[in-house]
Amino acid sequence: MADNNETLQQEKVYYQGSCLCKAVRFELLAEPQTASHCHCTMCQKQHGAAFASYARVRHSELRYLCGEGVIKSYASSKTVRRRFCSECGSNLTWGYTEGKWSEWVAVALGCFDTPFTQDITREIHLEDMAPWWEPSAKSLKPE
Ligand SMILES: [Zn+2]
Ligand SMILES: [Zn+2]
Repeated sequence: MADNNETLQQEKVYYQGSCLCKAVRFELLAEPQTASHCHCTMCQKQHGAAFASYARVRHSELRYLCGEGVIKSYASSKTVRRRFCSECGSNLTWGYTEGKWSEWVAVALGCFDTPFTQDITREIHLEDMAPWWEPSAKSLKPE
C-alpha cells in the first residue's frame, strides 16, 4: 500500500452512531470535549423527552458514512441549526451557524452505537426542567 494518504492512516474512530432507521451512519474521530444534558424547552420538544443529551466535537471530527442526503435541518433560532433524519425523525446534531462556537457540533448521545462511558460534564437550562422529571440518583450529589 502506498502511504500517500496520511489522513486515512492517522484517523482513529472513537465512536460510531446511527439514526433509528440506519439510513444515517456517522463516526466521531475524536473524544468529545464536553457532554451535557440540556433541559431547555426546545430540546424537550425536539426530542419529545425530558431533556436532550449531546456530546460536542469539531465539525471536522464528525464524519458521515452514509445518509447525508436524508438529513434535514431546522433553524430553531437565528444562529442555531438542528439536524435530523427525514426518514425516521431521529435527532442527530445541533450547532451554531455563526460565532465562536460555529466550528463545534453537538451530536445526540442517544444515536451512539458505541457505548458512551464518559461522565456528563454538565446539565444546562435546569430552570426549564420538566416538572415530571425526577433527577436520577446518579445525578444527585451525595450528602
Ligand atoms: Zn433515520
Ligand atoms: Zn437545549
